[in-house]
This record gives sequence, C-alpha cells and structure tokens, in this order.
Amino acid sequence: MDRNFRIACVGEVMIELIAGDGNAAELNVAGDTYNAAAYLKRAAPELHVEYVTVLGRDRFSDRIVRDMKARGIGTAAVTRHPNRMPGLYAIETDAAGERSFAYWRSSSAARTLFDADGRDPADVLASHDLVLLSGISIAILSGAARDRLRNALEGFRANGGLLAFDSNFRPHLWKDLRLARAETERFWQCTDIALPSVDDEMALFGDADDSEVIARLRSWGVSRGALKRGDAGPVDLGADGHALPVPMAEHVVDTTAAGDSFNAGYLAATATGRSSIKAMESGHALALKVIGRRGAIVDID
Ligand code: ADP
Repeated sequence: MDRNFRIACVGEVMIELIAGDGNAAELNVAGDTYNAAAYLKRAAPELHVEYVTVLGRDRFSDRIVRDMKARGIGTAAVTRHPNRMPGLYAIETDAAGERSFAYWRSSSAARTLFDADGRDPADVLASHDLVLLSGISIAILSGAARDRLRNALEGFRANGGLLAFDSNFRPHLWKDLRLARAETERFWQCTDIALPSVDDEMALFGDADDSEVIARLRSWGVSRGALKRGDAGPVDLGADGHALPVPMAEHVVDTTAAGDSFNAGYLAATATGRSSIKAMESGHALALKVIGRRGAIVDID
C-alpha cells in the first residue's frame, strides 16, 4: 500500500434536510463527490483524501468544515466566498415511501469554483495522485472555469495523475442537453478510471443498452473502470468486459449514494494496488452496506 497516495474529490457539498413528521427535520452534510470522499476514508483510512470546493463564511459552512474534519477529510483546498453560502437540498418522503427532492443551489458558493479570481485548478491538482470528478462537479462550473479545469487536467495527467470520472447526469444543472453531452464527452475523453452508471449514460447519450454505452465509451478512449448497473451488478470496462456475478442485496432500504459508495470502494482498492475485479468487488460490497441503511453517508462499521 502506498501510504502517501493523495486523492482530491472535487465538487459541491451541501446541507441536507430530511423532513420528518410535523415540523422536525434532520440536518446532514452531503453531495455526490463528498459522499465518495467520506466513504473513501472509511474504506481506506490511510489514504489522504482532500475535498475541493468553495464554501461561504456563514455558520452552515463552518458546520460543513467540521463535518469534513470529523470524517478525516482534508480541508486545505476549501476556500471561502465572502458573500455566498453552501447549497441546500431537502428530502421528503410521502405516505407510499416515495422520496422527492428540492434544491436551493443555483447561487451556491461552489458555483464559483475555479473562477478566474479563485484558485488555479492546476495548483490544486498538482499535489494529488488521483482526482475524482462527477458530471455534477462540471455542471455547476461556469464555462470558463470548466475550460480551466479541463486544461489543468492535461498537465496533471501528463505528470502521471489519474482522473476518475462519474458522469452523474442531472438535466436541470445544464442549460440544455447538447451542452451536457458535449462537456461530458470532453471529460470522458481524458478519463483514466471511468465510473459511469448505465442509467445516466443512457439518459444523457440515448444509448439503447449496456453494450452501446460500453462501445461508445471505448470509442472515446475509456479502457479502465466499471459500469454500474444497479442490481444487475457492475461490468469491468477493461479489455475483457467481465460482468461481476454479484451477491444480491438482502435488504434495500435507501439507494441514495449507492453509486458514490461504489466509486469509493472501487477507488480505495485501486489506490491500494488491487485489480479491477477486486476493485469492483470492494465497490459492490460497500454499496450493499450503504443501501441497507437510510441516508447518504451512513454508519457502516
Ligand atoms: P447510481 O447510484 O450511481 O445510479 P447504481 O444504482 O448502479 O448507481 O448502484 C451502484 C452500485 O451499487 C451497483 O453497481 C451495484 O454494485 C450496487 N447496487 C445498487 N443497487 C443494488 C441492488 N438493489 N442490489 C445489489 N446491488 C446494488
């Protein structure tokens, strides 16, 4: 194991409200790449995991930084915007158990990440071995900031850095489908470890099935990673296209963060020198624990 392996998870971390009975609500800290950062530390505490974002100077931002510290996630790459605040989302569950989400994130501090007057992404990435980005991380950036990040990835990868990418498609975060497709393709083309979900890829690119998704990603140079397919289990995106025969979930309570925790298990195994098959096994094993409990970042010990 390389004890000095450094991973940067980049994107938006939010305040999560879970509406309860009456006026009560539970308050948490969550967000796709943040959930993955938290599970990376759980899966391999010896890894150095940093979260890269912009927060505000308000007390909810302080609460998020406390949450990072409590989870052992590095905060050196967190900057504070003078007058913006973190995004917020609320989850409500109806009588039939169906969950609905509401978001207040359109002017969050994280939207200013990699803006011209902020930190240079090349400097942030330089001190890391692997960077995890998602479709959400790139959707929230301005066009210019996205270009700056994309350019920085060239130098980062030329120096041996690895990009792990999960396309996590959220249509409402993009101006239109054409932009979402073009930008996601641009990031797939520089991805070293691909961690897509089949549903997101089909919704975004209009593929008919798994094999079309895999063929398209391969044509863009993807040769390593795993395609997540819910209860059908992951498929290796390496040369042999091995489908992992997966143990079924005994108890599915809440599939929130299934993909994020899979990514964490996969990347923790990869960072510690395991094969792609072992990485898929560890991603799947972690996801199974997570879907057995309610919430994004659950206690799995
Ligand atoms: P996402 O949350 O990104 O949509 P998936 O739903 O594909 O991702 O779930 C990620 C991984 O979690 C899957 O590849 C699989 O390993 C595991 N998983 C998710 N749901 C189930 C389930 N119902 N039974 C078994 N494994 C599951």
